[in-house]
Amino acid sequence: VIEIRDLHKSYGELEVLKGVDITAHKGDVVSLIGSSGSGKSTLLRCANLLEDSQQGDIVFKGEPVKWKGGGLHRRPADPHQVLRIRTNLSMVFQQFNLWAHMSILQNVMEAPLTVLDRPRDEVDHAARKYLDKVGIGDKCDAYPAQLSGGQQQRAAIARALCMEPEALLFDEPTSALDPELEQEVVRVIKDLASEGRTMIIVTHDMNMAHDVSDHVVFLHQGLIEEQGPPETLFGAAKSERLRGFLSSTT
Ligand code: ATP
Ligand code: MG
Repeated sequence: VIEIRDLHKSYGELEVLKGVDITAHKGDVVSLIGSSGSGKSTLLRCANLLEDSQQGDIVFKGEPVKWKGGGLHRRPADPHQVLRIRTNLSMVFQQFNLWAHMSILQNVMEAPLTVLDRPRDEVDHAARKYLDKVGIGDKCDAYPAQLSGGQQQRAAIARALCMEPEALLFDEPTSALDPELEQEVVRVIKDLASEGRTMIIVTHDMNMAHDVSDHVVFLHQGLIEEQGPPETLFGAAKSERLRGFLSSTT
C-alpha cells in the first residue's frame, strides 16, 4: 500500500532522515522503534505528506508522489494527490487531538462529512459502528474532557477508521496513557491487526510491537540500523545498538 524509498528529510542544517526505505503491503503491520530523536515521527509525517522531504520517493498504491522543484524547494505537485494520500493514511497521535468543543460523535463524523463530503446519515451510521467497535458506543454524546485518556484515544482511533483509510499510522498511541488504560488501546490495535488492517505503528511498547507486528524497523539517527520479523529483532538482535536500546526499554 505504501512504499517509502531512500527518503531524506532535513530541518535546516539538521538531517533527520538520511535515506530510509520502508514498505507496508496490504495487511502488514510494521512497527517503528528507536530512541527519542531518531526520526520516527518525522518519517510518519513525511509518509502522509504532512511534512515535506527533500529526496526519495513515496509511493501510495503504486502511485508515486509527484513533486515539483528539487532539494529544499521540493513540494508535492498535485494537491488532489496530497488529499487522496492524506485521507487514505489516517494518523492517530499520542495526544489524541480531539476537538474539545465537539461531542465524540461529532469528532468522528467531522472529516468524512467535510473532507470526503459523504452523506450525513451514512457517516452517522459508520461513526456509531466504529465507536461500538472500539468499545465506547455509549459515549457518543460526551465531550472529550469527560472521557478517560484511554477512551479518548479509542475515540481518536474510531475517528481515523471512519475515514475508511487504506492504512492507519500510529504515533506513540499509548505513551500518554496510564498502564491500565494503555491495555484498552493495545487491545483495539491487536483487534485491528487481526482483521488484516495495514498499519505503521511508532511505539515505545516493545510487548505490543512484538505481538502485533509482521515487521519491525529499528531506526537510529535517521537510518535503519536493523529490521526483520519481531521474533528475530527481539529474540536475536544482531546490532549492538539495538541490543542496547532493547535493554534500556525493559
Ligand atoms: P520521540 O521518540 O522523542 O518522539 P522521534 O524519533 O519521533 O522522537 P522526531 O520527532 O522525528 O523524533 O525528531 C527527529 C529530530 O528532528 C529531532 O532531533 C528533532 O529535534 C528534530 N525535529 C523534529 N521536528 C522538527 C521541526 N519541526 N523543526 C526542527 N527540528 C525538528
Ligand atoms: Mg516522535
